[in-house]
Amino acid sequence: MRESTGARSRLRAHFLANLGRVMNADELREVAGGISEWARRVRELRTEEGYLILTHNDRSDLKPGEYLLETAKPEPAFSRNISKETRAFVLDRNGFTCQQCGAVAGEPHPYDPTRKTRLHIGHVIDKSMGGSDDASNLRALCSVCNEGARNLTLDRPSAQKLLIQVRRATASDQREVLRWLRSKFPTD
Ligand SMILES: [Zn+2]
Repeated sequence: MRESTGARSRLRAHFLANLGRVMNADELREVAGGISEWARRVRELRTEEGYLILTHNDRSDLKPGEYLLETAKPEPAFSRNISKETRAFVLDRNGFTCQQCGAVAGEPHPYDPTRKTRLHIGHVIDKSMGGSDDASNLRALCSVCNEGARNLTLDRPSAQKLLIQVRRATASDQREVLRWLRSKFPTD
């Protein structure tokens, strides 16, 4: 047990020190101290710690046995806490299609054809805004849109664009927007 956590932290440090560089199995096995379990430790970094370590399943320009960590920021813990059953239910309900851009799981991504579309589960209403982990508040999002959703530097929509969207919305959604605006600007 002690051995394995040591190997995992050595691998974690190595990935973080080599962001953006493709690494092969020999290199990672050596970093892990030559243990045969090195691949499982890499998987744990992904599934338990949320590091987005990419393989040939994620990117067609990676060969089998090649690994790449592009970003030091792990996926937030809450998105990893959603059960396998809920995850499967939401993906199936959404037809294994990104609910933002329409990319289909396993197919080349429309915005970046070198990447195979991998779907994540995202919150409709963010956890920080009181959204729940219930399936009704979850949707399928591809990695590209999921990264965008966390990117706070996204351009703000103009009033004109917002009005176009609001005019197209259902009356009940329009009322919800009105309620939200009233609570935000009570004196206007
Ligand atoms: Zn997408």
